[in-house]
Amino acid sequence: MSDAIQKKILCIDDDRFLLDMYALKFTKAGYQVKTCDSTLTALKMIKEEGYQPDVITCDIVMPGMDGLSLVDVLRKENLASKAVIIMLTNQGTSDDVANAKKLNVDGYIVKATAIPSEVLAEVEKITASKKYNQ
Ligand SMILES: [Mg+2]
Repeated sequence: MSDAIQKKILCIDDDRFLLDMYALKFTKAGYQVKTCDSTLTALKMIKEEGYQPDVITCDIVMPGMDGLSLVDVLRKENLASKAVIIMLTNQGTSDDVANAKKLNVDGYIVKATAIPSEVLAEVEKITASKKYNQ
């Protein structure tokens, strides 16, 4: 990574096994990683604890509040406004994609087709293209 400052990434998923895999992958790539297995905990970290990640990867199907609802709250309350938000999910229905687009997320990765190194590559690609657009 070319940036001198470590990028902060927050990975949200109810699957701890996947979180551990992503954490390992992103840590090795030089990121400062936080993982979270619930949307409510993630919201607390961002809203109450003032955590400001550069990148958020977020699963959609989770118990309690789902990932798209979390992003909806972040958008409405203008939280984590500088973060690149990427939905990382098994759900690939056109409704989900449409809803994610409505929430103006920066990217959408289907987990089933992406091993951690591909997720990392895709996240870096999306992050880079967002930088160009700013
Ligand atoms: Mg899930």
